[in-house]
Amino acid sequence: MRFFLTTAIDYVNSRPHLGTAYEKVTADVIARYSRLCGVETYFMMGNDEHSQNVYRRAVERGLDPLAYCDQMEQEFRAVWKQLDCSFDDFIRTTEPRHKIAVQKLAQVSFDAGDIYEGVYEGWYCVSCEAFKQEKDLVGGKCPLHPTLTPEWIREKNFFFRLSKYRDALLQHFALNPAFLQPDVRRNEILRLLEAGLEDISMSRAGQSWGIPLPFAPDNVVYVWFDALINYIAAAGYGTDEGKLEKWWPAGLHVVGKDITRFHTVVWPAMLMSAGLPLPKQVFGHGWVNYGGQRMSKSLGTSVDPADVAGRFGADPLRLYLTKEISYGSDGDFTFERYEERYNVDLANNLGNLVSRLVAMAEKYRGLRVSPPGSGGRLAQVVDECAARYRSSMDVYALHEGAAAAFRVVDAANEFIAETAPWALARDPANAERLSGVLFDVTEAVRVAAVLLLPIMPSSCAEILRRIGEPTPVADLRIERDARWRAGGARELVKGPSLWPRSEEKTASGGGADRRPALKEPKVEENATQATGGAAAAAEDTRLTIDDFMKVELRVAKVLDAEAVPKSKKLVKLRIDVGNEQRTIVAGIAEAYPPDQLVGRTIVIVANLKPAKLMGIESNGMVLAASPEGGLPTLLAVDESIAPGTRVR
Ligand SMILES: [Zn+2]
Repeated sequence: MRFFLTTAIDYVNSRPHLGTAYEKVTADVIARYSRLCGVETYFMMGNDEHSQNVYRRAVERGLDPLAYCDQMEQEFRAVWKQLDCSFDDFIRTTEPRHKIAVQKLAQVSFDAGDIYEGVYEGWYCVSCEAFKQEKDLVGGKCPLHPTLTPEWIREKNFFFRLSKYRDALLQHFALNPAFLQPDVRRNEILRLLEAGLEDISMSRAGQSWGIPLPFAPDNVVYVWFDALINYIAAAGYGTDEGKLEKWWPAGLHVVGKDITRFHTVVWPAMLMSAGLPLPKQVFGHGWVNYGGQRMSKSLGTSVDPADVAGRFGADPLRLYLTKEISYGSDGDFTFERYEERYNVDLANNLGNLVSRLVAMAEKYRGLRVSPPGSGGRLAQVVDECAARYRSSMDVYALHEGAAAAFRVVDAANEFIAETAPWALARDPANAERLSGVLFDVTEAVRVAAVLLLPIMPSSCAEILRRIGEPTPVADLRIERDARWRAGGARELVKGPSLWPRSEEKTASGGGADRRPALKEPKVEENATQATGGAAAAAEDTRLTIDDFMKVELRVAKVLDAEAVPKSKKLVKLRIDVGNEQRTIVAGIAEAYPPDQLVGRTIVIVANLKPAKLMGIESNGMVLAASPEGGLPTLLAVDESIAPGTRVR
């Protein structure tokens, strides 16, 4: 069996936020579960680079677009690595293999008569990079970008004959009821299909950043039409027919609920036009809100997943995203709730169970546990939970899978309370019974760790090591290893606390503290000699006072200001820093006209390495409060403070 799994590819005009991470993490859980089931799996992620927003962001930074995309690729890969995403392939839409696939599909579709020239006139949301019909707008605005005004565009475009495929799409939905999940998404799309489809623009005129149409090279392929093709490009379309044969059609596209229309209407129609089979399934996941608000960079409600993972490590975040949000529905994240779940599920429950087990095994049996007990009721509960886990995971009810795995943990804790090993240990007549109880708890922990392995890969590998599981993690198989097994002996291994309890109070004098908590791994009785286990305490990323003092903040006075040509945001300042004058380029032009800047007393970072912005060398950085999606406000000090004064 084979399984080709993809996520949406991301625009690189900003770093991934927690919502982006949610999609990658949950898809990674599916990929790892698939491998655990012994299915040959090809898991693909990537970046969507031919976006005008990406192009603009690069120009703002004075960078060649491709060089900018190269930088962003490193940023994205670093976050995905931190979150332990196990992708097999990472595609970028500027790669030759993608360009070949896009041009091939466009040509095949053109030759089939499905692409024709016309004039597009209508609304366009620059942030979505999507054409909008009047009925899509709310109060004249894109509902996803209520702070922006859509543009009215009239240009000569090539159109894709989407309307031609309406009946075939309806038939496909009828014959494949599971094509789009969850059902609520399916119903939305069916209503849309029943209302009829219009042809869509598939090219843009007058742009250089994109893939030229093979039959009209003055036009580039519209970024959405371009992006969807990444899935077959990665599978070898146009470059490796053997690979395509092996991996296409995809088993599952995991995408956000806002782009299911592109993936279940436009994309299948493009594939039909090109004579290619359709993906087997599309899953439209919900959104992670932040404190009840939609997470969005432009709305200023975005959370950096690297910050969250920096707090307790990647696995607790992966667990939260999988277990606390019904897959397919919207969910919510707050740091308070996250910390609470960490303490409940990990510090107090699973982590404590592992510590207690190893401590008792050491105290009563010198870490070697044998012979097995009867299993009894615990064995039965474990096997039932494992079955429920599998039936949930098989239909992408990831939250129910995670909950089933945690019922094994609960059952093991209850079993310890009922059997009271410490009481058994008092009477030598109970020696065999005590060994059996310890073995059975070990067995329950082993099954729980196998079930949770796709969700918390590195912690579960560590748990399996500590309870003496000899099979390498990559060789574990759900069918064989996620069921009760009695026999032999278990050699347990000591280690530091997996998830020390977080005691940090979040509110410290007003604003909540978003920094990683300073944690000392707590020594648990009998269980801990720090041996440097993989899942030890998260790193403290705060700065020392010495680190901070390396940043030289100084008061400066603006002597001169002029707009930077061809840039909306940048302004060139000549400033007085006390004993010298220098030039700084600052991104504040939208908030301050040049003449309003002259004479102002501002604060700068004085010891920054020079950087070139739009060809101008900038020496330092101006400090401003910069709300996401809003205009910057300069940090100011009283005019009486002399230029050059240190700020600290
Ligand atoms: Zn929009």
